Amino acid sequence: MKTIVYIEKNPITKNCRFVSLELAYKAYTMMQEFNGDVIGVFVGDHLPEDADKLFQNGLDKLIYYTNDNLKNLQSIAYKNIIEQIIKQEEPDIVLFGATHNGRDIAPLIASSLKTGLTADCTQLFINDLEYKKEDKGKSLYQVRPAFGGNILATIVTPDNRPMMASVREGVMPLPEKKLDKKGIMEEANIDFTEEWIKSEFLSIVPKKSTVNFDSKDVIIAGGAGVGSKENFDLLHKLAALLDAEVGASRAAVDFGYTEKARQIGQTGSVVRPKLYIAAGISGQIQHRAGMEESMKIIAINNDPNAPIFNISHKGIVGDVKDVVPKMIQMLREEE
Ligand code: FAD
Repeated sequence: MKTIVYIEKNPITKNCRFVSLELAYKAYTMMQEFNGDVIGVFVGDHLPEDADKLFQNGLDKLIYYTNDNLKNLQSIAYKNIIEQIIKQEEPDIVLFGATHNGRDIAPLIASSLKTGLTADCTQLFINDLEYKKEDKGKSLYQVRPAFGGNILATIVTPDNRPMMASVREGVMPLPEKKLDKKGIMEEANIDFTEEWIKSEFLSIVPKKSTVNFDSKDVIIAGGAGVGSKENFDLLHKLAALLDAEVGASRAAVDFGYTEKARQIGQTGSVVRPKLYIAAGISGQIQHRAGMEESMKIIAINNDPNAPIFNISHKGIVGDVKDVVPKMIQMLREEE
């Protein structure tokens, strides 16, 4: 079997995007059983500065096409180049990050190749198709929330190849230890034409956000149970003592306790910190979709039957307004 992973560069750090490393490792773990290949495809002006990391995360080969005209996303050019490589390599599976670029290019390619694409998958695995009589080989099982997140749908692409899926950043884990693996880089042989360049970029202004979940080991998230904007400030005080970032459930954002950029879950950020403290959050599936891969979860809730306790490693049954000030006091005493 063979899997292609679309590789992206972070335009600010010039390194590989985390989602590309995560997908390289996911593809590697899926291909291992079949002795299959994992091939990265990069399109842009210059390769990511840390492209070697892709091999330590599971790539066997990186096929790249670089051209100064491709500094910014050019949908048609990117689509044509990646499609040519897919046709040359004939993979069984193609994976994209559900990023701005991935969401733009993946549907164009899937429609041109007349195959299926499942967006925003939360799980991927390979298995036999039980209900299909003819042998199409192994299938990629693509799991994603559906119907407003109330069910998890498992989707397969029984008749068409390649099987295509996208995954949001932070959903798939990275290897605990770098793999001892070396790969090869190969320049793609592409019939490039300037006519594929359809857009002109006047300027791109990077969005400034004060919320940075990636750089923190601890996240303290507040929900509707926090009760007010003032109480939310308590979470910020606790976060300052723990060098943590503050997150929120959608209900907390909807009530105006905090800003939308802090929302964690299906329609917010996906996080995987070492410690996630959920304060006054019930633990609905849409919230869990963004945090349940955290290494340790501590829940604070005044309802002992709150579903969040089913996925927590430790639980504190109590009022956020009592528990959080006590935690702050204890940490201050320790200082
Ligand atoms: P609630 O469900 O109201 O829970 C509040 C909890 O606080 C309760 O468990 C209660 O026991 C506890 N509590 C109350 N008072 C106190 C107190 N004083 N001390 C301690 N505990 C207290 N939600 C997200 O979070 N992120 C998403 O990205 C997201 N996307 C969605 C997408 C779709 C399409 C849909 C339909 C929904 C989405 N939701 C999302 C909403 C989700 O379904 C829930 O409504 C939301 O997560 C609930 O937030 P909550 O747990 O803060 O509030």
